[in-house]
Amino acid sequence: MSASAARTLGVLGGGQLGRMFVHAAQRLGYSTAVLDPDPFSPAGLVSHHHIQTAYTDPNGLDQLARCCRAVTTEFENVPALALAHLARSISVAPGADAVSIAQDRIREKTYFASCGVPVAPYAVIETEAQLAAVSEQLLPGILKTARLGYDGKGQIRVQTHAELAHAWDKLQRTPCVLEQLLALQQECSVIVARGRDGSCVSLPLQCNRHRNGILAVTEIFEGNIPEALAQRADTATRTIASHLNYVGVLCVEFFVLASGELLANEMAPRPHNSGHYSIDACDVSQFELQVRTLADLPLVQPRQHSPALMLNLLGDIWPENGEPPWAKVLALPGAHLHLYGKTKASKGRKMGHLTLTGASMEAVRATAQQAAAILGIAPF
Ligand code: ATP
Ligand code: MG
Repeated sequence: MSASAARTLGVLGGGQLGRMFVHAAQRLGYSTAVLDPDPFSPAGLVSHHHIQTAYTDPNGLDQLARCCRAVTTEFENVPALALAHLARSISVAPGADAVSIAQDRIREKTYFASCGVPVAPYAVIETEAQLAAVSEQLLPGILKTARLGYDGKGQIRVQTHAELAHAWDKLQRTPCVLEQLLALQQECSVIVARGRDGSCVSLPLQCNRHRNGILAVTEIFEGNIPEALAQRADTATRTIASHLNYVGVLCVEFFVLASGELLANEMAPRPHNSGHYSIDACDVSQFELQVRTLADLPLVQPRQHSPALMLNLLGDIWPENGEPPWAKVLALPGAHLHLYGKTKASKGRKMGHLTLTGASMEAVRATAQQAAAILGIAPF
């Protein structure tokens, strides 16, 4: 390995998660390499090296392997074959096996259950016979494609068997799961970082609110969920990571039911949108943890030093020509604005996020509501 490769960390995917990984890596003195075909990808724009090929292009992957000491991924839909290709010549974390489980809701649910972590009642729908055999108990439900869904894409809510059959047609009869539509008391997520030596640390539990299947608001403060529940979610996430012998940052999303039952929804083999607050409200962010796991640096338990609330900034709030009134938002105390460098704003597209920190959760919520009003985000 050349001296420059020994100081370079790589990432597959050039979205906002890759961009924040690049920022964290560079702060620790590393050079970075991003593989993403888009010449204007958010991470490619700020990285030392930007390899602009398809994720499956062996030449691009070899080029990445030559210029780095280790490679990670910023999205779970990266072809597992690309990770396996890289792993032949370079250290890759997380591994292709963990990523391929996270890519497939069917394998993911089976895996959670094998770890003793319950999931929502569901049925696999891959054949006509399975469709016909769906139990009434699962209706109303949500039909989800087993693969390639994100931000609520590839999901259809159904009330009846007839609607279910129609929805499966609409999803081109691709392998799906039908989940019972649950009355969610709360949604939360836990982010852990696990090193090659098996050491594991976690961020404080995040409480999440979604709108139209997309994360809208994350709140993180002590007591945001009963302590015993937070402990259970933390333990479940650590178990899920350790049974996979996982290396890297992993997020597990949970549903909390009124009964206090905790169900695992899905996992992301990478930093997660609900952990963005850690950049501004913790002494070690999820992206620094990702860098540390990749570079075999020590992991320390992050400490949150301020209550925090994160608002996602979707393309919906961009005016036709121009930008939202950032100066007004930045006039608020404890406002930390992150924009991802995307030039085209479209509905539902994640363009940035705003983290609010303050002395108390009440103060943070009050400024967050002011920010939402300024930006035209509905109050929450
Ligand atoms: P993301 O990429 O944003 O995590 P996704 O497309 O992978 O989303 P899910 O996490 O499965 O999709 O679902 C998105 C949201 O839809 C959930 O956070 C939750 O608010 C709602 N939802 C999903 N499944 C159920 C369910 N079985 N019952 C009730 N609500 C659900
Ligand atoms: Mg989700």
